[in-house]
Amino acid sequence: MEADRALNRFIINPSFRLQSTYLSVDWYVVDPATLQAEGPIARPGQSVLTLRGKVQVIAVNSGARVDIIYHPDTEFDTPTVQKWLRNMMREAITTRACEILPARVRYLENLKGLYGSGVKVRKLPKNILGCCTGRNEIHLPPFLVIFRQDWMDGVILHEMAHYVHKHHRKPFWDFLSQLLGTDARAADAKNDIALSPYFDYYRFLTS
Ligand SMILES: [Zn+2]
Repeated sequence: MEADRALNRFIINPSFRLQSTYLSVDWYVVDPATLQAEGPIARPGQSVLTLRGKVQVIAVNSGARVDIIYHPDTEFDTPTVQKWLRNMMREAITTRACEILPARVRYLENLKGLYGSGVKVRKLPKNILGCCTGRNEIHLPPFLVIFRQDWMDGVILHEMAHYVHKHHRKPFWDFLSQLLGTDARAADAKNDIALSPYFDYYRFLTS
């Protein structure tokens, strides 16, 4: 609960920047009349927030990109707008993660010739950035899809190393270093993510 309260300090508005390999957000401001006219036009991936009969925000999700269209008086400070934007972003990130993360695991498995029994994309407790079950199923949190590629790969390879070693003792780190081609203790993607200034923000976007 402590952690969840801390997440409430975040706000999603046009200063929010997200440009990652698999998902970007772009903001467009238009005049109110244009926004009203655009609202009823149905497009694939489009969602519209209307308040008191007026269109406030339009989001168009095309998978790799979310375009958010608003007007100068859109009330970003109100809970209704924030809740809508947060739900929309959670949905966009989760959908993208379910598409990209299992494919990336398959790619790395083929590259390393090391195979598990599947991937689940799901919310994990805070500070758990991935886990590997006893039957070698990898579980990954959706927000991993908006982190840097090398960090995403670092977490996936960490879990793949657990296919072979079910612990964090020396043989595990030696094997992971082999998979990474560098010292795994020095290049610890999970640690880099946890210390990243975006860690809490990205958790907020997906919780
Ligand atoms: Zn581990």
